[in-house]
Amino acid sequence: MPDSRMTNKNGMVSKIQTRIRTDLFKNNYDLVGKELGRGKFAVVKKCIEKTTGKEYAAKFLRKRRKGEDCRMDIIHEIAVLESAKSNPFVVSLHEVYETTTEIILVLECAAGGEIFNQCVADNDEAFTEQDVIRLARQILMGVACLHRNNVVHLDLKPQNILLTSSRPLGDIRIVDFGLSRCMDNIKELREILGTPEYVAPEVLNYEPISTATDMWSIGVLTYVMLTGESPFLGSDKQETFLNISQINVDYSQDVFEGVSSLAIDFIKSLLQKNPRKRATAEECLKHPWLSGHPHSHLHSSHLSSLDEPETPEESDPEPESPASTPELVIMASYTLCSSQREIKPGRGTFTFDEPFHTHPEIKQELIC
Ligand code: ADP
Ligand code: MG
Repeated sequence: MPDSRMTNKNGMVSKIQTRIRTDLFKNNYDLVGKELGRGKFAVVKKCIEKTTGKEYAAKFLRKRRKGEDCRMDIIHEIAVLESAKSNPFVVSLHEVYETTTEIILVLECAAGGEIFNQCVADNDEAFTEQDVIRLARQILMGVACLHRNNVVHLDLKPQNILLTSSRPLGDIRIVDFGLSRCMDNIKELREILGTPEYVAPEVLNYEPISTATDMWSIGVLTYVMLTGESPFLGSDKQETFLNISQINVDYSQDVFEGVSSLAIDFIKSLLQKNPRKRATAEECLKHPWLSGHPHSHLHSSHLSSLDEPETPEESDPEPESPASTPELVIMASYTLCSSQREIKPGRGTFTFDEPFHTHPEIKQELIC
């Protein structure tokens, strides 16, 4: 866990243990193949370590963004990855390099790519409910572990959940801690980022955010994984925000054809407007949809990972109360970024019968 004394009031950690190498990355690694992915400030490429022949993913992060020095944001991302070293569902960090313009994170390569691809795939390639049960359990075990360590991810979406392999379907790895915050000793948070389709109502309402904010995103994520549809996506950001603030969700049979009612019940336990009523990660793992006998209805060869020591379901942990966690209060402007690629919106049940008043301080600017 990051040392709380190193956490500033915005939940950013400024001390890392990893040695930052200043020798040339390309002396030690060969870049191979095409890009694995990219965001607004990062490009991720596959590389091979020359001495070992092992494959890694190199995330090249620009230190200057929009004319500002963002080195400390990258240091924070490294600190969170360090703190999650023992979390089997968070991508592991191998090495860090720094040049005059960039910091390069050498990460475990999640060769199966984003779960996004299967969320939007045609029927025969799309996830089955059994796949989603296994992957959702892993996501929850990973997130429960982050939350136990007071880390909130704040950008859980299908582009940031990767797979170790796609065929056969492997295990999940959570990536991209660029927006994450460490909640030790936090009283307020002055800047918050998210992705409109996945952002929780409390973020839009300037109410305190907590670990429950991630749980909302897991509800959206599960909906997308099961249906291929994005529950709140409107034709523009304002419509999306209005759908979220009105919890305008379509649970009809049209959307959930062939999906169990337990799965729908699970999603409903997360898409609750009041963060205190939302299930925690530990509680989710005990939900009947996920807590059945996994070995009896799953076919994957990767089930052993479900028995990791992290697995919280056997123990009886203190129920986590969002109310008792340090509150992150959004005080000033924040920006919301849109996902770069599209998932189709749910069945346009939304009617625009009242204007959505965005807070004047929300910059309607895309930042990633
Ligand atoms: P950003 O902060 O720019 O969104 P991410 O860490 O999410 O950066 O990386 C961007 C994309 O690169 C991811 O959505 C994913 O497709 C790919 N990627 C990131 N990390 C890895 C990894 N360890 N292995 C394979 N692909 C990765
Ligand atoms: Mg990302």
